[in-house]
Amino acid sequence: MNQYVTKVYEEIESRYPYEKEYLQALKEILESLDVAVSKDKRIEENNLLERFVIPERIIQFKVEREDDNGKIQVNNGYRVQFNSAIGPYKGGLRFHPSVNLSILKFLGLEQCLKNSLTTLPMGGAKGGSDFDPKGKSDREIMRFCKAFMSELYRHIGQFRDVPAGDIGVGAREIGYLYGEYKRLTNESVGVLTGKGISFGGSLARTEATGYGLCYFTNKALEVLTGKGFAGKTVCISGSGNVAIFATEKAIQLGNKVVTLSDSNGWIYDSNGIDLNAVKEIKLVKRGRIKEYLDYHKDAIYHDKAIDKTSLWSTKCDIALPCATQNELNEEDAKALVKNGVIGVFEGANMPTTFEAYHYLLENGVIYGPGKAANAGGVAVSGLEMAQNSMRYSWSFEEVDKKLKDIMEGIFANIYETAKIYGVKANDLITPANIAGFKKIADAMIAQGF
Ligand code: NDP
Repeated sequence: MNQYVTKVYEEIESRYPYEKEYLQALKEILESLDVAVSKDKRIEENNLLERFVIPERIIQFKVEREDDNGKIQVNNGYRVQFNSAIGPYKGGLRFHPSVNLSILKFLGLEQCLKNSLTTLPMGGAKGGSDFDPKGKSDREIMRFCKAFMSELYRHIGQFRDVPAGDIGVGAREIGYLYGEYKRLTNESVGVLTGKGISFGGSLARTEATGYGLCYFTNKALEVLTGKGFAGKTVCISGSGNVAIFATEKAIQLGNKVVTLSDSNGWIYDSNGIDLNAVKEIKLVKRGRIKEYLDYHKDAIYHDKAIDKTSLWSTKCDIALPCATQNELNEEDAKALVKNGVIGVFEGANMPTTFEAYHYLLENGVIYGPGKAANAGGVAVSGLEMAQNSMRYSWSFEEVDKKLKDIMEGIFANIYETAKIYGVKANDLITPANIAGFKKIADAMIAQGF
């Protein structure tokens, strides 16, 4: 690596040695930017790398709520406002017990590049809490959301920072968060995205990340293999928002999805996943993916506690990891390659480990990183902000068409950037990082320090 790039990585590593997810994302990004740093002298002259990889602001607060037994419980709340060079901070809130600053810094860093790639004017941020919504009553979740917002509201705003959902934060939580923001500020503005349709949400926002992932996959396959995303056997992980709507669009495009998972295990259905059953289990009953067997006795369930077989050992043409970070490791990558996978496109953020994606790239697999492939969610969030500002709403078809155009535009931008920098065609991560960073770098230089 270029001396300057190495120096930046080593400095951050020595300052934050325990923030492993942040360092992992940083390494991946800096490795890609190496070639851009050598070509564009302004990056080093303006110390842009160190200025970009340190968040502009980190807010940490305490969240107290009463649980259903009348006991007071305490959690950590965070908002990492990473970079605002190209627009107000924008990025999701995650409620999961694993949430810590390392995870939010990695997500915030990725978000900056992702938002830049959408071409919409949005800076990057991420936030959340180590609160675990699983198994909690609706009322307790509402009390938590209100308590969380009672601190966060001071730091956000339609022109300042516009949060959305992520793991553990869906339409229900966004509704409670928005209600509390409105109560505290007496303002009905588009301060959160992913809102309910009856109070300013955008049609197609729920579907956007999963659908966008499939639009991106389709374009990449069309250009790089001559055949689009149809007639393929597809492995998907997760069974949340992204996984469900990626499954829906993949099936609509004429593919067969054979796996889904949650943190307890995964299902394999050789006949193709029955999405109606999954929607009933996950969206109506808020149940576990294991319950799929109640609908399809011939499907197979692998319980993670007793069966270590990886979902990625299933034979498929296309893999769409849609659960969480680092869920696809080098062993998984080897199994996928052995089984003839053509492409891995990420619905989740950083689901593929550093070693795993290098293995995929070395073996000619098309690798579409999350910051490009899953940008559909934030893109439609940007469209929700536009609709809120106009006091107007577009139809589902209009939003879906704009989403498709944005996803195909992201691929085109990456493809052109790859040609300029001489990157191998199956490597979509290097040009994604370069193209995303370039816009932010230009804005940072133009705005001075
Ligand atoms: P959801 O909370 O709706 O679903 C998450 C899914 O992943 C669930 O099936 C969950 O299982 C599983 N999962 C979560 N953590 C783990 C873990 N540690 N190990 C195994 N499985 C796990 O979240 P989303 O679908 O919204 O998000 C999924 C991914 O997509 C995340 O990486 C998120 O950052 C990314 N993303 C989401 C966007 C969006 O618009 N929602 C936009 C762009 C990216 P369980 O129920 O058992 O926890």
